[in-house]
Amino acid sequence: MATRSVAMGLVETHGHPEAGGHATRPKDLLGAAVNAVILSIGTELVRGLRLDTHARDVARALADLGVDVLRHETLDDDADAIAEAFRRAAAADAVIATGGLGPTQDDCTRHGLAAAMDVPLVEHPEAARHLEAWTKARRRTISPSNRVQTLLPEGAEVLPNPIGTAVGIAARLGDAHIFCLPGVPGEMRAMLDEHVLPRLRQATPGRVTRVRTVRTFGLPESVIGERLADLMTAGRPTRLGTACHAGLIDVHIHTTGDPDEADRLLEADAAAVRERLGAAVFGEGEETIEAAVARLLDAQGATVALAESCTGGLIASKLVAVPGMSEHLLEGVVAYSNAAKVRSLGVPEEMLEEYGAVSEPVVCAMAEGIRDRAGADYALAVTGIAGPGGGTREKPVGTVWFAMADASDTEVICERLHGDRPLVRERSANYALNMLRLRLG
Ligand code: ATP
Ligand code: MG
Repeated sequence: MATRSVAMGLVETHGHPEAGGHATRPKDLLGAAVNAVILSIGTELVRGLRLDTHARDVARALADLGVDVLRHETLDDDADAIAEAFRRAAAADAVIATGGLGPTQDDCTRHGLAAAMDVPLVEHPEAARHLEAWTKARRRTISPSNRVQTLLPEGAEVLPNPIGTAVGIAARLGDAHIFCLPGVPGEMRAMLDEHVLPRLRQATPGRVTRVRTVRTFGLPESVIGERLADLMTAGRPTRLGTACHAGLIDVHIHTTGDPDEADRLLEADAAAVRERLGAAVFGEGEETIEAAVARLLDAQGATVALAESCTGGLIASKLVAVPGMSEHLLEGVVAYSNAAKVRSLGVPEEMLEEYGAVSEPVVCAMAEGIRDRAGADYALAVTGIAGPGGGTREKPVGTVWFAMADASDTEVICERLHGDRPLVRERSANYALNMLRLRLG
């Protein structure tokens, strides 16, 4: 019996030393950067019948250990495709594959791995014992199709399954450490935690991946990219990326390494990002734009009222989600019809007739009307066309007017927001909240 890579504690291989196609591992993983590829195997994933949540879960768990995840691949239950994917992925230090270890014809991960390793599938005594014990404990009989689950590529190691019939597989392919886990979510998670993560943790002592998020609103992604260009170049110890949703643009900063050093690098980059993006930055981490507004209202002891048309109460709902808002939000009116705009906000009827509900004078009158009636320091008003119907040539879908009134003046702006109805409403709410944030800030 040949046992390799004991120092790394990752995968012990049994049997032929050449089984993995290598004799010694040239690179010692201990304390070094470790990278990984994640393979999600299952026809239902490729066809879109089921969302691949394992790749996300495995990636997060690996990132916590400071393992660099190079890529995710989603594969059909096809032995040739699986074999090829394993060969390609073996350029990484570790490969974590999930799915396709079951007893049915379509489960062929073990076949693909054996082909990639160029070894036969052989019955593994430990896998056979596991299957016998599992079926006996449940007073079941082993069906002939279950027998395939006792077959492992020659030289591979069993990863015990505490819950199900399918054992996992650990093997070497070239320099790579391969781990195959069942697709059943509970089994996958249990075996990842019990067998895979501890081995990777040994290989990455003292390494962590840290992520910091700086949240912005108001600058286009392209401008953010230009201002942060030098921080985004390859070869720096941190990696920066942007992600946008409903007008909010997050700048994520990642780094992997020693925890103190990682914190120091992230702090330096976050400070640079905040400085370069200026007033567009409203918070960090999970902080929402409404929470940022609430913080500012709190600091100033100010009050606000809302007049919402196309957002239908979304701004109020967002603000009310922040604890302590009863001190600051006096009133929110959803004035969806013209009649309601007249009755509840005091918008002149003639104004609605002359300019239409989605117009500059009307949005100003809405903001000023609710501010007066509620007796608030600030008022926000929104009126627009969320779609999909209701657009015209002059006022296409996504045309939204915003107004923010305080004691001194009323600021008004028109935006053409893109996206479907939910997105236009979400962006509009964020946009209005951002106007107030900038005024308060
Ligand atoms: P077994 O046959 O022993 O149950 P298996 O390894 O063959 O295990 P699969 O049949 O491939 O596993 O998948 C079992 C279940 O887990 C299926 O419902 C499948 O849709 C789900 N599943 C598999 N892979 C993923 C994944 N990447 N993300 C989310 N669900 C998955
Ligand atoms: Mg499957």
